[in-house]
Amino acid sequence: MIIDGKHVSKVMKQEIKLEVDALKAKGVAPGLAVVIVGSDPASQSYVKSKEKTCNVLGMYSEKHELDTTVTENDLLTLIDQLNKSDKIHGILVQMPLPKHINEWRIIDAIDPNKDVDGFHPINVGKLSIGMDGLKPCTPHGIIKLLEYYKIDIEGKNAVVLGRSNIVGKPVSMLLLQKNATVTTCHSRTKDLNKVLKSADILIVAIGKPGFVDKTMVKDGAVVIDVGINRIETGLVGDVTPDVFEVASYMTPVPGGVGPMTIVMLMHNTLEACKRLTFDA
Ligand code: NDP
Repeated sequence: MIIDGKHVSKVMKQEIKLEVDALKAKGVAPGLAVVIVGSDPASQSYVKSKEKTCNVLGMYSEKHELDTTVTENDLLTLIDQLNKSDKIHGILVQMPLPKHINEWRIIDAIDPNKDVDGFHPINVGKLSIGMDGLKPCTPHGIIKLLEYYKIDIEGKNAVVLGRSNIVGKPVSMLLLQKNATVTTCHSRTKDLNKVLKSADILIVAIGKPGFVDKTMVKDGAVVIDVGINRIETGLVGDVTPDVFEVASYMTPVPGGVGPMTIVMLMHNTLEACKRLTFDA
């Protein structure tokens, strides 16, 4: 069965729009600021779709486009202004940043209550101890997909291939909170095929086109392909399409995890707005 991220994201967008409309009727408009440095085409296209989704949902959005020559101090000054702005509830700095800027210093400067990417050390810490905080978009979107399709997580062997800070580690943490038995694999994992084959739920996020094929997947496993790889023929995931033959559920690429990432960003902006406005 195909896990249709486009459909689930559409349903979530409708729910978010209703909440945004209700807030706006009370005079509060959730606002997202996106900061982009340089003109990398992939980053520009991500930022464009974030702006577009904000507009569709009736949220306020600001785009701050900076030249690659911007200094770290100038970027920190902008973040300070956005932290203080009443119109802004979410701040997203599009990564990667030019080499002369320390990404961690930038992430650390964002108000954790406005950190809609969920990358700030405070939010990472909250995630690891199970406290309520802003969760990273792609991992949270994966959990929403599993929940939408009523896929049991508790007690299942969940294997996560990849240990990045934006996908692998946080999704492992979220699965653990949902009482899965979690194994996180990486480039030094021994007997990788054996570990992958033990997975009831397999999350693949390594950025290598077609790395996982059907011989590595247990019959009936749930497979979430996070990979987005641009090759000559278009976009492909980290998992080969023949895995559809053995998986019970699987996400396509495109149209699986990708659409969830952006909707979770909107979800986080709405959450941040509600907390900043009503819990302060
Ligand atoms: P990173 O490059 O940051 O991390 C890749 C991980 O894969 C690392 O932990 C690495 O191990 C591991 N790895 C690489 N090669 C192997 C191998 N041969 N065997 C075992 N493990 C390996 O990637 P990201 O997590 O940022 O992204 C992964 C993919 O997901 C990319 O295609 C990216 O485009 C996509 N992505 C999609 C999103 C979406 O919205 N759908 C959002 C974010 C990412 P080690 O740590 O040992 O080096």
